[in-house]
Amino acid sequence: MKLLLGVLVVCALAGSGHCASDSVAWCYHDASCGPAAWPTVVSPEFCNGSRQSPVNIDTRSATEDSSLKNFIFNNYDNTSGLTTITNTGRTVKVALQDLTVSGGGLSTKYQSLQFHLHWGNGDAVPGSEHTVNGMRYPMEMHIVNMKESYNGNVTLALADSEGLAALGFFIEVMDGNATASPASWNTLASYLANITNSGDSASITSKISMDDLLVGVDRARYYRYLGSLTTPTCNEVVVWTVFKDPIKVSKDVINRFNSTVHIGNDTSILMINTYRNLQPDQEVKTTVDNSGSSITLASAQMAIAAIWAFTGF
Ligand SMILES: [Zn+2]
Repeated sequence: MKLLLGVLVVCALAGSGHCASDSVAWCYHDASCGPAAWPTVVSPEFCNGSRQSPVNIDTRSATEDSSLKNFIFNNYDNTSGLTTITNTGRTVKVALQDLTVSGGGLSTKYQSLQFHLHWGNGDAVPGSEHTVNGMRYPMEMHIVNMKESYNGNVTLALADSEGLAALGFFIEVMDGNATASPASWNTLASYLANITNSGDSASITSKISMDDLLVGVDRARYYRYLGSLTTPTCNEVVVWTVFKDPIKVSKDVINRFNSTVHIGNDTSILMINTYRNLQPDQEVKTTVDNSGSSITLASAQMAIAAIWAFTGF
């Protein structure tokens, strides 16, 4: 409690309208600082707003939007793009460098700053933030991007209703008895042993790229809605993209997250159930996923072209 008061004083002295996320005393595990308390005592300014995340995605009520085209992922194949992995006490975060994303119905180019993960308590207790038709996945990865024009200036991004673009990827248990798979996720999880305590960081020296981690996902198929940060201070500045295909990761790798990293030092509890409760539904748009019919159309055009060629037209 002393710590909580100390943090609040620091925030008040800072004189800004809100505190940066990391300076607000919030948590997942305790009623006094957990998600149920965010809209009231912990961070009421935005956490009780009207476009809060995460949400359940009802696939039947999502409306198709033909402006949701393919993304352009720049440098996502670069094996030096992941720099540092950190235990923040609330998640495991990986800093990114020289990566951008554009297209995908976004209004401008965004710089990819970091990704982090949300999880439950092993593969048996799912912990994704978004759900689809009420189904929760074991884990969820969030790639956090800021409008490139803001040059990493958080204050500017938090003043823009689309200042951040978050890319959400579900993680599902891989079929069969595979272990240590895929190699990219096994490598990433191997760093957890080096960051067991809150505040610990490690340099990522392995050659893994974002493309390696996003294996098996058709990035042309996604949902879109306008929402918020899912952690205090819950600012409503996020264009959300939630991809339809999950990343498939073997059970042993998923289970390493809830069994390795602590919320404080080694004597503190393990980091588990690191997700916010669902917020009221938002209007969700979806990509037009008619690849089957567009193939048919392309085939028809080729057939017509062939007929023209054959008949001399
Ligand atoms: Zn997140």
